[in-house]
Amino acid sequence: MSFNPADNIQDLQYFGEFGGVNPSISDSSTYTFLHAKTMMDTFEGNAEGCYLYSRHSSPSNLFLGEALAAMEGTETANVSASGMGAITPTLMQLCNSGDHIVSSRTIYGGSYAFLKNFAPKFGITTSFVNITSLEQIEASINKNTKVLFCEAVSNPLLEIADIKGLSKLAKKHNLKLVVDNTFSPLSIAPAKLGADVVIHSLTKFINGSSDTVGGVVCGSQEFINDLRNVNDGASMLLGPVMDSLRSASVLKNMRTLHIRIKKHSENAMCLSENLEKDGIKIIYPGLKSHPQHELYKSMYNKEYGFGGMLAFDVGSLVKADELMELMQNRNLGYLAVSLGFYKTLFNAPGTGTSSEIPADEQKEMGLSDGLIRFSIGLDNNIERTYQEMKKCMQEVGVL
Ligand code: PLP
Repeated sequence: MSFNPADNIQDLQYFGEFGGVNPSISDSSTYTFLHAKTMMDTFEGNAEGCYLYSRHSSPSNLFLGEALAAMEGTETANVSASGMGAITPTLMQLCNSGDHIVSSRTIYGGSYAFLKNFAPKFGITTSFVNITSLEQIEASINKNTKVLFCEAVSNPLLEIADIKGLSKLAKKHNLKLVVDNTFSPLSIAPAKLGADVVIHSLTKFINGSSDTVGGVVCGSQEFINDLRNVNDGASMLLGPVMDSLRSASVLKNMRTLHIRIKKHSENAMCLSENLEKDGIKIIYPGLKSHPQHELYKSMYNKEYGFGGMLAFDVGSLVKADELMELMQNRNLGYLAVSLGFYKTLFNAPGTGTSSEIPADEQKEMGLSDGLIRFSIGLDNNIERTYQEMKKCMQEVGVL
């Protein structure tokens, strides 16, 4: 594959104000002008290289945005204070009252709740579909549909979206394809497969240290300009701006992303293979038993593997809780939401990160109470982790 996201990040060159190897942090909310006219020009977006006010733009946020755009292969990007602060302005920018969205039904609970409960207040409705069925998706498109929304690898069921197929549908019906790539940075490059807009919660793998929330919208210059428009730009006016100190620290963490993703993927693959051999029904895109294994392979950037997320069902919430508490006691990881940390994180999404999805809909999409979602850590010796995990599973009687 000629497009390598990590090489693109590496190829960027930044200098700090005094020749530092890291760009200087713009620790200011507002900026002075020698001439009042330049201030007016900057406000109108006509003074290249000048800054007015840090909700509009700041050097630190632009540096981080540039690195993320290089990673996704888009013209540019706009960073935000959280993943939700990237998703909601994007959808509100693309839709007006009366418009319709076709969304995957297996998405992060917050995105689901926004589409189901909040967007209708503004006259925007959503049909939730099985993202693995292009027929069902096409059948859900109507004359008001403006957006196709999905996650490249879905939270928490790890369904894989056929981004090329979705992009064809989007073009055919004149829709924008918006892909949340939070679970698969580097491994999948949705814009290269035809997505119009690519979103991340930076909170997860990209930052990788579970010390901040953050988000990004990667897209065309035109769309990012729209989001930032002072008169009607959703990011500008809803105001989910990232703080410069944080964007500087996320940028520094991004430099090790390729190494971390390889290790997360290697560890998740090893655990999945071993646990599957033990008879556990593992959901992991790297396994041949995953229904979209071949699809993932047709899209991925091989060297970054199948990602760090896996899931399996232990039969009931009681068993899931018992196992998670034991694994935490044995220091195999933390019973916590979120993902992309150096330690393994696990939770039961039916009652946690997907609890916004009503029980009957969880059932329909195959999200059972006993499902545990794992974000596999950077464990140095994954064989040792596997042996310990196996013991825990035997102790609670799920193996
Ligand atoms: N998208 C996905 C796939 C997520 O898992 C999450 C959070 O869990 C989000 C978006 C929201 O991101 P944030 O919590 O940074 O707002």
